[in-house]
Amino acid sequence: MSVMDIFETMEYGPAPEASSLALNWIQARQPFQLFINNQWVKPLQEQYFESSNPATSKALTQIASADAADVDAAVAAARQAFPSWSKTPGHGRARYMYALARHIQKHARLLAVLESLDNGKTIRETRDIDIPLVARHFYYHAGWAQLMESELADYQPVGVVGQIIPWNFPLLMLAWKIAPALAMGNTVVLKPARYTSLSALKFAEIVQEVGLPAGVINIVTGEASKAGDALVKHPDVNKIAFTGSTDVGRSIRRTTAGSGKKLSLELGGKSPFIVFDDADLDSVVEGVVDAIWFNQGQVCCAGSRLLVQENITDRLLSKLRARMENLRIGDPLDKTMDIGALISPAQRDEIAHLVAQGIAEGAEAWQPSSICPASGSFFPPTLLTNVSPASTLAQIEIFGPVLVAMTFRTPAEAIELANNTRYGLAASIWSDNINLALDIAPKVKAGSVWINCTNLFDASCGFGGYRESGYGREGGKEGLYEYLKPAWQSNTAKASLKADNAQEEAMDVQDVSILNEIQEATTEALPAIDRTPKLFIDGKQARPDSGYSLTITSVDGRVLGEVGEGNRKDIRNAVEAAHKASAWATGSAHNRAQILFYLAENLAAREVEFAHRIVAQTGRSYADAFHEVQVSLSRLFSYAAWTDKYEGSVHRPPLRGVTLALKEAIGVIGIACPDEYPLLGFLSLVAPAIAMGNTVVVLPSPGAPLSATDCYQLFETSDIPAGVINIVTGDRESLSQILAEHHDVNAVWYFGSAAGSKSIELASSSNMKRTWVNYGHARHWLDRVQGEGEEFLREATQVKNIWVPFGE
Ligand code: NAD
Ligand code: MN
Repeated sequence: MSVMDIFETMEYGPAPEASSLALNWIQARQPFQLFINNQWVKPLQEQYFESSNPATSKALTQIASADAADVDAAVAAARQAFPSWSKTPGHGRARYMYALARHIQKHARLLAVLESLDNGKTIRETRDIDIPLVARHFYYHAGWAQLMESELADYQPVGVVGQIIPWNFPLLMLAWKIAPALAMGNTVVLKPARYTSLSALKFAEIVQEVGLPAGVINIVTGEASKAGDALVKHPDVNKIAFTGSTDVGRSIRRTTAGSGKKLSLELGGKSPFIVFDDADLDSVVEGVVDAIWFNQGQVCCAGSRLLVQENITDRLLSKLRARMENLRIGDPLDKTMDIGALISPAQRDEIAHLVAQGIAEGAEAWQPSSICPASGSFFPPTLLTNVSPASTLAQIEIFGPVLVAMTFRTPAEAIELANNTRYGLAASIWSDNINLALDIAPKVKAGSVWINCTNLFDASCGFGGYRESGYGREGGKEGLYEYLKPAWQSNTAKASLKADNAQEEAMDVQDVSILNEIQEATTEALPAIDRTPKLFIDGKQARPDSGYSLTITSVDGRVLGEVGEGNRKDIRNAVEAAHKASAWATGSAHNRAQILFYLAENLAAREVEFAHRIVAQTGRSYADAFHEVQVSLSRLFSYAAWTDKYEGSVHRPPLRGVTLALKEAIGVIGIACPDEYPLLGFLSLVAPAIAMGNTVVVLPSPGAPLSATDCYQLFETSDIPAGVINIVTGDRESLSQILAEHHDVNAVWYFGSAAGSKSIELASSSNMKRTWVNYGHARHWLDRVQGEGEEFLREATQVKNIWVPFGE
């Protein structure tokens, strides 16, 4: 085509980005080895696999395939580097990370071309989105390294972290994993996806260039079944951070159950793109292009379900088809291409198969007339209409350039349709009515919500899922906690000593003897058998389904009372009641705070009775029991205080607008209380959960449940709405298992044995609910540092980031 022709037709001319720099770089280094302890080492078995260019199907190079022994060497290197890296002052770590950011910028062009060659994504995206975001991530986290000592003083790094990433944003996912880990003083073994290791290996060179201490970052390339599996199972890894498919996330949850490894999972999605009839349709069309054709639709948070208000459907879809007709698909290194190649022929075939299945189920497919290149893994942008909400196409993550459209009439219908998925990663809402958009945003179950925009990312804004899209956040301050643990956990022995001292200090010796005298005087006056409480479900006492009860005895064998023996049916009823009470979360925090204060007030009025109950069940001294009640009162006050103060934040990402980070309730939380401290253990868990707007199903201390069942009347007289707190007595182990398996329970907290903790984590994989378990370790509930505060509040919430751009 001559320049004159181009001028006449206004056709695009070729605009190729040179690949020679990247190809020469590859040529000079192949085959690629493993990066362990800042050195390039051969895999012990000398196995290699091929990495290819998906746009041409041609081989690019050979890459080392690590097996378990290689992973072992990498973990050992990371372990050895950990003590000194974690003790390097924050400023020191910040300097290294700042240098990493600078060097990434210096090598930006090579990185962009490498990424495009290896993955098939367009150079336009790698150059303008992936690589700049990578640099931004390291800068942002260099800042957190600097500030860690002052801003996160009560936390410590978790240790050696194993990180496993997918192929869709190879270097960006590496940055999301490595930057926070390093900033918080951890050392890393990272496994890239098999299809896309090259940019990670270039990053390893940058690590050498910057002179990061050996062993802080190790990169082991390889297969899921060898390197990936070995990393997940390695006993000396303290945390696994994984991004990938929900199925693999589920299997990692099962594999690591009970190991005590911290786990964060960023999984799949089927995100809604909701268009109201007052939206600016031309912007919407550009939004849809970015939502589902960005990175060929191989985006976990792709807006893959277009939900359109019925009256504008035809208008929007015809505009959209016209735009699709103009999308350019082809050579990813051509700077004028909109759509590049899919990662592999297998992925292309899978997408084609799903589309065919959808058509067989009655959907209508539309594709533009432009032709895909004949060689390479290309698939045309595809729009499917006449899709029913329950069909395969509407439910399955296709992970390709395939959009399904459905319609709704009212905002309520839009929300229902949007949430009709097992996932909850992201959502996009389009309306020129900001009131409407901000009303919908909290109602959509998703970690990121974009208003009149889509697929925006920034290091300052946490990213991660609700429901089966996983748990944990990447980015923002919230993302740092995934790489931290409370400092007290580092030295449990020391911590317990401190807790015991604190307890004794709190009680004046004089007081103790007086209180013990009171106890002796009053115990004798108490009748041997007290009330026989039922279960507490939906604000009412309910007879257990089994009709059986359990006898509760004192340590010296006296019968104290009987409690109902709950079963699966009771748990089901309790969960149902808890769901029905979900309006608790949307009411005002002020209201919840008042109710918690009121609860404390009502408990204070009966403090002597509650203390006696503890004495009777546990055989502890009256002074000790009375102290437990006092700490319980203080704890209720703490959470009443926190209720309207554990707020979100406002981020300022580099765009015209703000991102509102809201701390939202998780939903229904199942809580299995510890054996010890029957009242304090119970209230220390229930109070933060309900303070943050969750509703709960609680299994009280198995040996001493009466302190919890005595609270029924307190709840009734404290204006706690029916269903917010439900209590099922009985066998903690089997009942907590039922809660962990239940699909309508959103999180389970379990404080019991190591074996119980493991089976909770295993069972939680059914719907990927969040878990918080103690692995059988003791916690000093009397101690304020261990027994209350931020850790509890964080477990009771999930962060939603709502992006609100503004300006004309
Ligand atoms: P995948 O789950 O197959 O693989 C991801 C990574 O895990 C790869 O490195 C792979 O080698 C490794 N792996 C696979 N099985 C493993 C096992 N049993 N043990 C240890 N490691 C194992 O996913 P993929 O095909 O590479 O990526 C696509 C998926 O990732 C999609 O479902 C997408 O939604 C999801 N994803 C999610 C996010 C997010 O942030 N939530 C981001 C990108 C991709
Ligand atoms: Mn490749």
